[in-house]
Amino acid sequence: MDFSAYIHIPFCSHKCDFCDFVAFAGVTNQEDTYCQVVCEEISTRLEALDAKPRLTSVFYGGGTPGLIKPSNIFKIHNALLERTNLVSGAEVTLETTPQSITNAKASEWLAIGINRLSVGVQSFCDDELIAIGRDHNRAQAVEGLVTVVDAGFRNVSVDLMYALPTQVLASWKETIEELLRLAECLEYIQHVSAYALDLAANSPLKMRFPESSASYPSEENFIAMYELLIKSLSRGGFFQYEISNFSKPGFQSVHNLNYWRNGEYLGFGVGAHRYVGGYRTSNWRSLGRYLRDYMGNQTIELIEPSTRLREAIMLGLRMTDGIDLRRFSQEYGVNILEQFGQSIERLKAGDFIEVNNHQLKLSSKGVPVSNSIIAEFI
Ligand code: SF4
Repeated sequence: MDFSAYIHIPFCSHKCDFCDFVAFAGVTNQEDTYCQVVCEEISTRLEALDAKPRLTSVFYGGGTPGLIKPSNIFKIHNALLERTNLVSGAEVTLETTPQSITNAKASEWLAIGINRLSVGVQSFCDDELIAIGRDHNRAQAVEGLVTVVDAGFRNVSVDLMYALPTQVLASWKETIEELLRLAECLEYIQHVSAYALDLAANSPLKMRFPESSASYPSEENFIAMYELLIKSLSRGGFFQYEISNFSKPGFQSVHNLNYWRNGEYLGFGVGAHRYVGGYRTSNWRSLGRYLRDYMGNQTIELIEPSTRLREAIMLGLRMTDGIDLRRFSQEYGVNILEQFGQSIERLKAGDFIEVNNHQLKLSSKGVPVSNSIIAEFI
C-alpha cells in the first residue's frame, strides 16, 4: 500500500497574528533535541510495521522547516529513508518562509533530496503583510523565490492568502499580477495555493481586527476576489484542480492529492496527524509533552465507514474533476445519485453542480459557494 508521509517542524522566527498551527517562536534552542526525537519517533513507529511502507510523497511542513539547519532535515530524512521505500521520482516538499531562504540552504535542501518548495508569500502588499503580522515583506518574498529558482529548484509552489484585513479587490489584483509577472520570469513557479483567511478564535489578529471590522472585504468582494483568482491564474497557465489549488499541467501536489483522495498517510512530529489502518491519530500538540512522550496520542479516532463515506464526498467535491461515480460506488458501495437524489436534483436545477459522464462535480457557479453545497451531502 502507498502512503504519503508528513513531518512537522514547529519552529518559526515569529508567531504570525492569525496563526493557529502548532508553531512556536523563540524556542529554536530546542531544535537539535526536537529533531533527534523525531528521528526516534520515525524509527519506533516504522519498526513496528510488518513491512517497509512505500512512500509516494514526503512533506516537511510547519512551522517553518526552512528555518532550521539543513543538517537536521538531513538526519530526519535519512531516518525516514532507512525504514521506508521512497518511490523513484517521489515528491519531497519543504515549506519555508521567504526570509528563511538563503543560497546555501537552497543548495543543501536539493542535496538532501528535497525537490519541491512551498514558499509562504501570502501577499505581495506590504501593508497587508503588516496587518496580518507576518515578519517578511514583498522584497524578501521576491528575493526568496529568485534564490530558490537560481539554486536549481524546478518545482516551486507559492502560498497566497485573501480576505485579509485592509485588503481590497485592487490590492488582491496587485498580488496576483505580481505573482504572474514573477512566474513569467521564474518559469519554475509551478503551483499556487490560495486560501481565504480563517480567523482563529483568540488570535491576536481577531483582537486587532474583530470579525465585524470594516477592514475585511465584504461578502460580495470576497466572491469577487475568488473569481478574480481563478480567472487570472488560468490566464497565467495555472489551472484549478482543487478549490484552493492551482498548477501548471503535471504539477498538481501529489502529497495533497493523497489527502483529497482520502488516502492513508504517516505523520511524525509534534501535533502531527496520521491515518493508518482505518485509525486517525495525532501526537501531542504541546512541545514539552511531545518531547517527553513522542509515542503518546492527543487524539485517536476509528474512522467508521459512514465517516469515511462523508469525507470522500466532501474531499471529492473539492476537486475540479469531482467524484467518479462508478469508482465511488465500487469503493464505497454507495450510489450517490440514488442516495442523495433530491439534493442533487435541486442543486442541478440551481446550476450549482453538474453530472456528466459518471462524474459529479461543482459547476463554476457552485465553486465559490462550495461549503454550503458540500454541506448538503454530509
Ligand atoms: S510562518 Fe506559518 S506556521 Fe509560522 S507562525 Fe506564521 S503562519 Fe504560523
